[in-house]
Amino acid sequence: AHLDRIAAVDPEVHAFLHVDADGAVEAARGADEARSAGGAASPLAGVPLALKDVLTTSDMPTTCGSKMLEDWTSPYDSTVVQRLRAAGVVVLGKTNMDEFAMGSSTENSAYGPTRNPWDTDRVPGGSGGGSSAALAAFEAPLAIGTDTGGSIRQPAAVTGTVGVKPTYGGVSRHGLVAFSSSLDQAGPCGRTVLDAALLHEVIAGHDPMDATSIDAPVPRVTAAAREGAAGDLRGVRVGVVREFGGQGYQEGVQQSFRAAVDQLTELGAEVVEVSCPHFEHALSAYYLIAPSECSSNLARFDAMRYGLRVGDDGSRSTEEVMSLTREAGFGPEVKRRIMLGTYALSAGYYEAYYGQAQKVRTLVTRDFAAAFEQVDVLVSPTTPTTAFRIGERVEDPMAMYLADLCTIPSNLAGNASMSVPSGLSAEDGLPVGLQIMAPPMADDRLYRIGAAYE
Ligand code: GLN
Repeated sequence: AHLDRIAAVDPEVHAFLHVDADGAVEAARGADEARSAGGAASPLAGVPLALKDVLTTSDMPTTCGSKMLEDWTSPYDSTVVQRLRAAGVVVLGKTNMDEFAMGSSTENSAYGPTRNPWDTDRVPGGSGGGSSAALAAFEAPLAIGTDTGGSIRQPAAVTGTVGVKPTYGGVSRHGLVAFSSSLDQAGPCGRTVLDAALLHEVIAGHDPMDATSIDAPVPRVTAAAREGAAGDLRGVRVGVVREFGGQGYQEGVQQSFRAAVDQLTELGAEVVEVSCPHFEHALSAYYLIAPSECSSNLARFDAMRYGLRVGDDGSRSTEEVMSLTREAGFGPEVKRRIMLGTYALSAGYYEAYYGQAQKVRTLVTRDFAAAFEQVDVLVSPTTPTTAFRIGERVEDPMAMYLADLCTIPSNLAGNASMSVPSGLSAEDGLPVGLQIMAPPMADDRLYRIGAAYE
């Protein structure tokens, strides 16, 4: 049924870069057989899933939305994919994304944009717009995204779906093509909080192949979602981040947020205002740290090791081939980031830019720590605006970067964070998201409160 749905709507939505119909049917049959034999341990055995094209798969291409990796297939499955397959989850295909996960609209894909199923003239957010659009268009019931600065939560918000950035280190990065290694985190996407929880428990947990993977029990997120569904939040303390709201936020988004706070109060939560004074500098710090790490990570695309190679006709030096390949293989946003990062890391500027950004990162983390002494979770709108029009922000990188204003602090601190649907904006009828933020390894709090709220 999902393959039929993809065939019907994906020519317009363009959520997928690659669909593996035969592989999906075979995997579904395998899950059925295992179930008949009494061997299907996971509740998700046989359930189809859309996978962001930044996680490696040995049986499908992994392009990261880039010409650099067109037709490239990984020799191994990422840990996330290994765990999905072990649970019997059926991978339908790979979803569209901003090139190397850099962007907030999926317009930076080398393979053309994805459209928001709510209004196909609008973006589905990014960088994981393909995964969230696939959910919103009922092309898949589950999806995997990755979130470096908001790429799971922001697309979830603008497509009316659920997206979770687990605690940094909660889900293995082995086989997740690196953008900014200290920020990148894969996580579950679904149409309900419980669906996301079931998927979270399949993919999370320690992995010796990832040096930053946390060696501790996975938070009991499914139990928390079930508990939350009862709708009783008495005893829960919720902090509203004072710095997120006002200027730059659409009125429809602010109205939805006020209604969400009222609803949390009605469910029994105690809601207080909390100040996180350094959050206003988080975006600037992120746009030094993420490009710095990207400039280093993307050095591996050198025309020798992976994918594209241009101009190798025997007449050119290694440097010339490398230069021609990178010129042809990377899009404008990726080049912008590499240049920014290389500059920020260069001798003489390192302390003033990268070093300063790392100090801000510490201050943001301290703001969270102080807030979590007072409250169990923090809440804010996920994004300042609803889905914008395709093309509207392409010429203005700063406007594009502002889409992640509220999501970035949780990446800098490594916290767990979720976007849950918060109704439709009274201004334009488009979906709005409520962001819930919890301390590291307290992912279960997101699911309890998210399930009570949805
Ligand atoms: N939009 C942000 C950026 O462009 C976040 C991307 C992400 O989370 N992968 O960097």
